[in-house]
Amino acid sequence: MDSRKCTECGEVLIGRADKKFCSDMCRNAFNNRQSGEVSNSMRRVILALKKNRRILAGFIESDKKKITKKTLLETGYDFNRVTHFYINKKNQVYRFCFDYGFVEFEDGWLFLVSDKVNAESGTASE
Ligand SMILES: [Zn+2]
Repeated sequence: MDSRKCTECGEVLIGRADKKFCSDMCRNAFNNRQSGEVSNSMRRVILALKKNRRILAGFIESDKKKITKKTLLETGYDFNRVTHFYINKKNQVYRFCFDYGFVEFEDGWLFLVSDKVNAESGTASE
């Protein structure tokens, strides 16, 4: 026989089989925390970043590391969504979405990289 417990506080539950909380207080506390952690606007940003990452990963996995900015735009890549920047020793700015990023050259070409280490390659070795 399995004893059910309150999702919020762990108190053993007595009563209806579909009961998840021991009290309204626990239910409210749980729901407030759930909705507070990731708001809808945060979720949209995270989705956009994940989409960007998936696009970059797709090119890199098919060994297309040098593409035009136009090509990337055509995939629906959102250039406004960036997780962080990385500047290498040549002062080239890489724009990352999680572990994938790219550097943009003046002639409209982008060089894609899969992490910070790769972004550093091509510079003078230490
Ligand atoms: Zn409880």
